[in-house]
Amino acid sequence: MGLLTIGAFARASGLSPKALRLYDELDLLRPAFVDPVSCYRLYGPDQLERARLVAWLRRIGMPLARIRTVCGLPPAAAADEVAAYWDQVETDTDARRGLAAFLVDELRRKDTGMTPTFALRYAVRSDRGLVRESNQDRAHAGPRLLAVADGFGASGAQAPAAAAIEALRHLEDGTHGSVLGALQDAVRGAGDAVRELVTSDPAMAGGGTTLTAVLWSGSRLALVHVGDSRCYLLRDGGLFQITHDHTVVQSLVDEGRLTLDEAASHPERAILVRALHDGPEVRADVEVREVRAGDRYLLCSDGLHSVVPQARLRSVLVDEADPEAAVLALVGLAIEGGGPDNVTCVVADVVPA
Ligand code: MN
Repeated sequence: MGLLTIGAFARASGLSPKALRLYDELDLLRPAFVDPVSCYRLYGPDQLERARLVAWLRRIGMPLARIRTVCGLPPAAAADEVAAYWDQVETDTDARRGLAAFLVDELRRKDTGMTPTFALRYAVRSDRGLVRESNQDRAHAGPRLLAVADGFGASGAQAPAAAAIEALRHLEDGTHGSVLGALQDAVRGAGDAVRELVTSDPAMAGGGTTLTAVLWSGSRLALVHVGDSRCYLLRDGGLFQITHDHTVVQSLVDEGRLTLDEAASHPERAILVRALHDGPEVRADVEVREVRAGDRYLLCSDGLHSVVPQARLRSVLVDEADPEAAVLALVGLAIEGGGPDNVTCVVADVVPA
């Protein structure tokens, strides 16, 4: 079989002539031969397989630059690359699903003036622990806002976490418009406040803070998270970690180079890959979650979750009905475990309004 004209090749591959010209320019799919006089592009039948692969990858939404990478790989590696791309798509879609549901909800509420369905019943406790000189953790728990910040840097410096929490506090006064937007703005403000602090005072250099915060809208909550403090959800008796640690060790776990058990005792488990103020833009994870009556949230610093195993956290959260009793018991467990770090936790129950 001889060379095919661009029209014939387009029909056979399912790509349009216009797309074929673009892919030629992008070096994604070069014609076998270009007539020097007419400039007509001619394709070999052996190019059909690659063209069809490009067409399929376009159909799953893969960007052209990534398609070029896939096409340059041997089949097994190409398969891995497509699988990795699709995992990413699904993760992004999950995040967008929550956001879309939230937006629908907010717009409906604006229309109907719907009143909140649930309220929060909460308690907060923070303790220096048995080893550290001062408590660099800060927390806030109120009717609308829950937040835990774990500050680090110059010994005794209490400011980074305090500055972050202070910058969020106005969210308690209520927000106009989207809670997610309000929370994101406030977190950006908190990042600026911390950056200002650690760059203006040489004694503060290298300092910073984690931030895990929840803003409550009555039926949904917006969650932002940077660093290695955590948010857990107790639902139907199961305890689920719903934030992802931004630590070197967690990155190794994600890459399959470390098991969760190895991570729990890793000497460098507290080394962060992200903190609130690094870089001009706060790189926080943002999420909107639907809540159910009976849900219980735990926000805590690593002084709790790196000392007390998750099964113990769960049993305390199941057994202690009162949030106040729960935070007391949780901090007590961290102290019993040696209290090597500042320990801070917020427990909040979703109750009928
Ligand atoms: Mn800590």
